Amino acid sequence: MSAMPFAFDSIDSFSPEDSPPGTKIVYRKQITTLIDGREIGFSILVARGQKDGKTLVVCAGIHGDEYEGIVAIQECFRELDPAQIRGTLIAVPIVNEPAFFAHRRESPIDEKNLASVFPGHSDGTVSEQIAYHLTHSILKHGDLFIDLHSAGTYYTLKPWVGYSVKGGRIQQIQREAAIAFGFDLIWGSAFMPGRSISGSYLYEVPTLHVEMRGSGLCRREDVEQLKHGIQRVMSYLKMLKGDFQRTLPPYFRENDQGDEGRLQIEHLSKHDGLFLPHVSLWEHVEAGQRIGCIYSPEGDSLQVVHAEHSGRIVVLRTCPSVVQGDFLVTVIRL
Ligand SMILES: [Zn+2]
Repeated sequence: MSAMPFAFDSIDSFSPEDSPPGTKIVYRKQITTLIDGREIGFSILVARGQKDGKTLVVCAGIHGDEYEGIVAIQECFRELDPAQIRGTLIAVPIVNEPAFFAHRRESPIDEKNLASVFPGHSDGTVSEQIAYHLTHSILKHGDLFIDLHSAGTYYTLKPWVGYSVKGGRIQQIQREAAIAFGFDLIWGSAFMPGRSISGSYLYEVPTLHVEMRGSGLCRREDVEQLKHGIQRVMSYLKMLKGDFQRTLPPYFRENDQGDEGRLQIEHLSKHDGLFLPHVSLWEHVEAGQRIGCIYSPEGDSLQVVHAEHSGRIVVLRTCPSVVQGDFLVTVIRL
């Protein structure tokens, strides 16, 4: 069944029940019009099963230079047969179109990081308005929300499924769903205000964020991994028939203390220059170990970068040019 484009412009009127059972419909959410006439909004893909069941919300493209999740959503939606599912999949493949069409992490319109302004404001900047409408017209419908990210243009990372560690029912669902996703690394970390979770938690929606390899690429195997993960979580939610992981993966860390999970705060460049790593992704390093070097434009060594603590290289800068303050690697305590 092909998706039928369907114009749509009022947040209050959106409900998954607007889609008849057994259909796939594409809605367009218009948010605002810029002074140059450009329309700002996002597209919503809704696959409603023949039978009632849970609602899974999946989003990608909150950062404009992270592509794997966008393609995974498009392909999952295209391949889904609503006759075969229970409940409803609501997916927004590109939340932040201004950033996407600028090939950038942040929006070129207000220079804001969309993952720092949730739950947004109805009368705020463009990014704040996008966050507001995603929160109150999309995220609120979820029994579970999955936010797909990747390392972006300048980094690569070891793929993981993450969540904010918290207590009670939400935590149990998050952990079970993260396990079901099927990756070999789960990283539960501290709550960070401003991310999409500041929207989904307003409605007490359990939330996963998934990170892929990035480097500005969209590798076929990464897209497939994400698609399988989404399908396994749908099976966990009893939306699809199929198997899913039930036991902890080989790499599992849950810690909500301090800045755990905040990637950009360690191993910073002290200079403008050229960074060459001496380590590989997922390599184990000891505290104090030399992990890279910053060179001047003339090739002189400006800074030897040492591991600030022991663990594995979970994020690694792949773009050699750096400016002072750029983070170079993140080490997970595993
Ligand atoms: Zn991201």
